[in-house]
Amino acid sequence: MQLFKSARALTSVIKNIKPLKTIGFVPTMGCLHSGHLKLVKAAMHENDVVVVSIFVNKRQFNNSSDFEKYPKTLESDLELLKTVGADIIVYTPESADELFSPTFNTIDVNLHGIESRLEGEHRPGHFQGVIDVVHQFFTQVQPTRAYFGEKDFQQLAIIRQLQSEHFPTLEIKGIETSRSQSGLALSSRNTRLSEQGLTLAAELYKSLTLISENYKELQQTIVTQEIKRLSALGFTIDYISVANENTLKVVIEYRNDEPLRVFAAVFIEDIRLIDNVLIKA
Ligand code: AMP
Repeated sequence: MQLFKSARALTSVIKNIKPLKTIGFVPTMGCLHSGHLKLVKAAMHENDVVVVSIFVNKRQFNNSSDFEKYPKTLESDLELLKTVGADIIVYTPESADELFSPTFNTIDVNLHGIESRLEGEHRPGHFQGVIDVVHQFFTQVQPTRAYFGEKDFQQLAIIRQLQSEHFPTLEIKGIETSRSQSGLALSSRNTRLSEQGLTLAAELYKSLTLISENYKELQQTIVTQEIKRLSALGFTIDYISVANENTLKVVIEYRNDEPLRVFAAVFIEDIRLIDNVLIKA
């Protein structure tokens, strides 16, 4: 495993790899779990060289205490990565200065309104922060393919837009959400939940599955019912909404010519969790 903490050291190695080999890139914020490893394994399968970045990007946090409390577990992250590949390149920028020059402003991407819906509405500035950091990583790592999880489905849609405007030769790969046995989507934030909170969190997936299976017949009724049920169990709901998976526009009735997904953001024990499930046609 090679570990780089500076942009200069990383880019000098990339310069030698790039003309000869394909590079698969997996950006992460660390506190790695088997959901992240699924992305890394897909990258290893399809590329000659794999770069994993570990960096908690302050620009994408609209809540400073959430940023400060974000779990940092570099030693165990490196151990976990070693179990899947001995020759993975890990890039952990020592500070934001490795990514952003003093004159860096923001990256312009036309997102056709996607950025203002769902997560965008509830976390102002979040997606601009994601775009800025991912743009800088893509520029430094120069990947052939980059891997993102469907768990952050709206983020994936935004990254596809960034790719089409700024990185035309790059391929973006979306990877299905990894879940625990209870159905709970794996997330670094789950480590902050108590045992009771973890058990409760599994109810979210039950609700999303119920909505997915019954939306065609019951439409908004099943969504309202599940919001009520989860609220009564102790969840605080930011949103549970059915939306078109391409435009992220919220819909209120089923149409069989539209690809639909149910999206959720909820709080348990003050921890914000997100998830989404495809609506069955
Ligand atoms: P994060 O470290 O949370 O920023 O996540 C890094 C990447 O891993 C993102 O592309 C996430 O969508 C992806 N990811 C996180 N959790 C999961 C999961 N449970 N299943 C699949 N991908 C995931």
